[in-house]
Amino acid sequence: MEKDIFCRIVDGEIPCYKLYEDDDVLAFLDISQVTKGHTLVIPKKHYDNFLTCPKSLMNKVMAVAQRIGQVSIKIFGARGVNILTNCYEAAGQTVKHFHVHVIPRYKEEDGFMVEMKDNSSGLNLPALAEQIKINL
Ligand code: 5GP
Repeated sequence: MEKDIFCRIVDGEIPCYKLYEDDDVLAFLDISQVTKGHTLVIPKKHYDNFLTCPKSLMNKVMAVAQRIGQVSIKIFGARGVNILTNCYEAAGQTVKHFHVHVIPRYKEEDGFMVEMKDNSSGLNLPALAEQIKINL
């Protein structure tokens, strides 16, 4: 199977601006900076996305994402941070290797923002909640 681009970055075949590395996790600047400091945090071992990554490894990735977010606020004076991970193409995932975006926010018009529209009309919320609950 052909290696994805992030496996190639882990293996040193493609360069990146590395911010952090340990045995399990790598953090580097996203090649297209949505905002200054936009970072990707990935497990070195290949998992397709957040939903398929083992919990212990996912926790390590999230801990590094949290640290990068804290540092963005401290050193760049970001006013907020989006922590985002896309799972599968339908949700906008373009690189099939679990990654967490850390996107510092400086002002409201900073380009990208996930729009959270209210589409709840017509939904039976008690039934919906029950359906999810019993499958957890
Ligand atoms: P996704 O759309 O899958 O959530 O995000 C993939 C991200 O990977 C994009 O923001 C894209 O800019 C970034 N990306 C794709 N190829 C490369 C690369 O070769 N190097 C780096 N540093 N980032 C990349």
